[in-house]
Amino acid sequence: MSSIERIEITQHQFDLEPPFPAAWDSQPRQRFPATIVRVTDSDGREGIGSGDVMYGFDDFRHLFIGHDPLDLARHSAVIDNIGFHAGRCWPLEVALWDLAGKIKGQPVWQMMGGVSNRLKAYASSGTHRAKDDVVALAEQVRDAGIPALKLRFGRPEIQDDLDVLSAVRQAVGERLELMVDCNQGWRMPWDTQTPWEYAKALDVARELERYGVYWMEEPLYRGDYQGMARLNAATSLKIAGGEMTREPYEFREMLRRDCLDVYQPDAVCSVGMLGLKKLAQDVVAAGKLFTPHTWGNGIGVIANLHLTAGAVGPQGAPFLEYPFDPPEWTPEKRDFPLKAPLLADHDGWLTLSDAPGLGLELDEARLKATRSAQATYR
Ligand SMILES: [Mg+2]
Repeated sequence: MSSIERIEITQHQFDLEPPFPAAWDSQPRQRFPATIVRVTDSDGREGIGSGDVMYGFDDFRHLFIGHDPLDLARHSAVIDNIGFHAGRCWPLEVALWDLAGKIKGQPVWQMMGGVSNRLKAYASSGTHRAKDDVVALAEQVRDAGIPALKLRFGRPEIQDDLDVLSAVRQAVGERLELMVDCNQGWRMPWDTQTPWEYAKALDVARELERYGVYWMEEPLYRGDYQGMARLNAATSLKIAGGEMTREPYEFREMLRRDCLDVYQPDAVCSVGMLGLKKLAQDVVAAGKLFTPHTWGNGIGVIANLHLTAGAVGPQGAPFLEYPFDPPEWTPEKRDFPLKAPLLADHDGWLTLSDAPGLGLELDEARLKATRSAQATYR
């Protein structure tokens, strides 16, 4: 049996030129931060994770050193406890799964249940572009063979959002499934705008129904369970959410109240790989979809792909988020910590190999060149 010898955390910032005007951030982003976690065992194997910033972890590192890396249930429980006192340290759990896979000689998707090694991508846009530019993006996505596209709402006038949706639907017809993210459950620290209330969300839902939208994401504040349940009952749309919801008991409550049709917790930010394996299976057993948020770098996309493909496969997750909004957001920029970006194939599949662990290769030269003291957007 090997033991955990070392846990290293480094921060990186990749310069974004042009800046990325994220729809959910009131300030354009000049840098793309990444936190890289490496766990080394006593046999010299290394596991890699990325995602949340690991705030406050230094005080808890000693809780892992000397332990068996394969004791994943214990590590998940300790990381959950740390989140009660400090930051969310799930990237460490991702690194431990990568390491465990390398020790066992198994890909993580197999360890997650082995249901599948692939999922279809949906292109997830991230900006509020002008109508013609969003139409051009939709045509690019369609021509690349990706079967679905998520649009961002939140322009100053809702009519402008609806005009974009209408133009995209007209341009691509039924060739693309379209999702709409209202981003009302999410706020940057400096953004004090109040989220939509039920009446507004219902008005928007009625419009989205007319365009055959596949899901409506985060139409309400993330804690408005009553509003979500009412909206879900009132509309034929699938309601999606929960991308940053922290606690498994919150998801159980949302399932009990039938708040959502699509559950989206991101393994590198919430609940973790082991906790979400179970949640994903429960969600799908309840007849709902599980398809995580993955907006971040490619390590997070790949970790969530292993989790979701392995635990529930394409039946439980018809599409997985594939952040894509060129020119500011390309697979190469998104996956800057990796030697090669994760790409969807011509039929829109994201496919994992049989390489042990997560099957990742870091671009050490680029990580060296992007080292920083902080993990901020500017
Ligand atoms: Mg979202």
